[in-house]
Amino acid sequence: VSQSAPKLPSKILELMDGFRASKALFVASKLKIFDHLKDKGPTKAVDIANYVGASVCGTERLLDACASLGLLEKTPQGYSNTDSANTYLTSDGKYSLHGYIIHSNDHLWPLFTNLEFAVKEGSRQNHRAFGKKADDLFKDYYHSQEVKQRFMAAMHSIAHLTARDVATAFDLSQFKSACDLGGCTGALAYELVQVYPNLKVTVFDLPEVIANTSYFQPSGQHTAPVTFVSGDFFKDNLPEADLYILSRVLHDWPDEKIHVLLSKISAVCKPGCAVLLAEMVLDEEKKNRSTALLQSLNMLVQTEGKERSGSEYQALLEQHGFKNVKIRITGNLLDVILCVKT
Ligand code: SAM
Repeated sequence: VSQSAPKLPSKILELMDGFRASKALFVASKLKIFDHLKDKGPTKAVDIANYVGASVCGTERLLDACASLGLLEKTPQGYSNTDSANTYLTSDGKYSLHGYIIHSNDHLWPLFTNLEFAVKEGSRQNHRAFGKKADDLFKDYYHSQEVKQRFMAAMHSIAHLTARDVATAFDLSQFKSACDLGGCTGALAYELVQVYPNLKVTVFDLPEVIANTSYFQPSGQHTAPVTFVSGDFFKDNLPEADLYILSRVLHDWPDEKIHVLLSKISAVCKPGCAVLLAEMVLDEEKKNRSTALLQSLNMLVQTEGKERSGSEYQALLEQHGFKNVKIRITGNLLDVILCVKT
């Protein structure tokens, strides 16, 4: 009896090829094809190839692949950006993901190439990917201006995309001052002062980062000023505030280091003061939110940290006197947790 062939495993086939699509997006972004096509009518492959200084046959295949993935439009007149390419893939838009895409290509790709080692060894792979490993992962990022700039641009792009949802997940209008610990370029801080004009926000980050923030300041925006303070949140005194923010900070660290940081925050937090976390929160069974679960693998290849579930964050916070833990799943890339010092 002849057996009919099984149904095509389309999900598996899509995953098997997923890296090809990612790399096509990365290379088109690196070659600045989306920037070149911005505000332009349909453009022929040969003209795009000349502009980017690449072969015509290679460029044409890349453009066709991008068009088939919905990143470009292809007509007999040539190739043009889709609306979403104009918004998210050109390098200068407010919601540009260009910074994170370049970081994914130049930094995460070599790390994920070593995912097998990361899984076997249970540790980050900076030494295999880049030939060195500092004690602190941020020393790996900040040893060169180029890598630091790329990392900050990557953080900036995701922070822009998520800041409004993070700022409005809870009503924060009762707070007079906030300190964004590890606040990097200040993208969330500037959103907070727009949403809460009476809030004074301080961004606290390592000296190398604070020295480089001028590049990322919003231009022509009439917002209240944001203060930048440099220091090490594990060692130095923390600025005084009613609200301490940790956005994508706890996921970088193991529980032991989180306890050091939370106990320092708890020591300066008066009763009624609060902590706000912005992280991808895993579902309790750790089986449904693949974006967050893949982000946890991303933490494995490069940090000592991981993504955690709501109850895991709650347990960490409660040990330091933070109660009334509320969690908002925003539908954006970052979820928000608010708790109050009792
Ligand atoms: N909060 C930003 C966001 O959500 O876009 C940046 C998140 S980034 C993953 C972590 C930040 O923590 C970086 O800006 C890094 O420089 C900062 N950081 C790491 N170690 C630190 C330390 N010991 N003291 C102060 N900031 C630190």
